[in-house]
Amino acid sequence: PAPPPSHGARAAEWPADAASVDDFPEVAVFEQRLDTVLASGAAFPYFRVHEGTVRDTTVIGDRSYLSFGSYNYLGISGHPAVNEAVHRAVERYGTSVSASRVLSGERELTVRLERALADFLGLDDCLTLVSGHATNVTAIGHLVGAGDLVLHDALAHDSILQGCALSGAARRPFAHNDADALEHLLRLNRSRFRRVLIVVEGAYSMDGDLADLPAVIELKKRYGALLMVDEAHSIGTVGEHGRGVGEFFGVDRSDVDLWMGTLSKSFASCGGYLGGSARTVRWLRHTLPGFVYSVGLTPANAAAALAATELIAAEPHRVRALRRNAALFLRLAAAAGLATGSSRDTPIVPVVLGDSARTLHVADRLFARGVIADPIFHPAVEEGLSRLRFFLTCEHREDDIRRAVAAVAEEVAASAG
Ligand code: PMP
Repeated sequence: PAPPPSHGARAAEWPADAASVDDFPEVAVFEQRLDTVLASGAAFPYFRVHEGTVRDTTVIGDRSYLSFGSYNYLGISGHPAVNEAVHRAVERYGTSVSASRVLSGERELTVRLERALADFLGLDDCLTLVSGHATNVTAIGHLVGAGDLVLHDALAHDSILQGCALSGAARRPFAHNDADALEHLLRLNRSRFRRVLIVVEGAYSMDGDLADLPAVIELKKRYGALLMVDEAHSIGTVGEHGRGVGEFFGVDRSDVDLWMGTLSKSFASCGGYLGGSARTVRWLRHTLPGFVYSVGLTPANAAAALAATELIAAEPHRVRALRRNAALFLRLAAAAGLATGSSRDTPIVPVVLGDSARTLHVADRLFARGVIADPIFHPAVEEGLSRLRFFLTCEHREDDIRRAVAAVAEEVAASAG
């Protein structure tokens, strides 16, 4: 394909492939990838239609499957108390807040949710936005800009990378969970940039391991950097009461400048949050573009997240059961010789197979046996590190976990060679 035009190029000089999206070379590349999946003979693994709430099991067509493919970690999506709270919220407030909260005004529900989240997180205050992905994009885009630097873990989620791109700041990844590599970058770069923002995730969704938060906090303090922690997968799942990596490591909450998380996983809703000091959150509330210029959470989403926050605190057995199930799955998988990598202390267990065709084949075999595990390929993970990914929930039953691991071990062995 022709090189992209420079910013100054006139429309007439643009290559023909830029005139229609249909003709973009990247569309053709995508179609080739899709054809490979379709030609593999495997059942199409994407956009499957589920008939009800996805919990430890799910129904597709007329068959029930054992599911390891949803973020319903605490089994709260579909909980009667949450559904009831949503019904009441919709009756009272309708289905939309119909504008940015700055101008359309507040609903008591959203104010209560942000207070409850801040209390749950042990923070002064908290702000909610309509999407977890957009929360990272707008927050990073707002905190740093030209002349600044973002240092992020090499496994950072797409939303973190998009935020970096939007910000115009320089960006350098450091080797996954490698505090020495982070320190090296800080030593080389700290004095060359105005602000340095370190971004890590509480729990990494592809590898199922935790950030080394105490080490990162020590470096942040030593080098005078800012720190943002994305708790998409660690909030509700990690720590004695599910209060995330801060609780797990017993860190002082104020050592992290911005705690970010999503409402779409443990909180059984949709949206993102940013938590921190009262002063920081007030500034964001009045200036953050993705908040100020975007609609507030729907009443239904706010009600679901509020009811979920209350349930997590009131029913600590959910977090305990989740931890027990994840530990059992990991122990059985490791004992069966499956390559679970660095997974530990999270409800995410990968089984790394390397080759994408093999990964797709094993996922398909498992699906035929009634077990759902997501096949993950490049670009979501590095080339050659394709894997099946298992999300545990607190609702999985011990015999189902044993049955699933045995099936995975059999299919992985059968696919070898
Ligand atoms: N951050 C991380 C680490 C994530 O894994 C995800 C989504 N899985 C997001 C942000 C975006 O969250 P959401 O899906 O709620 O928009």
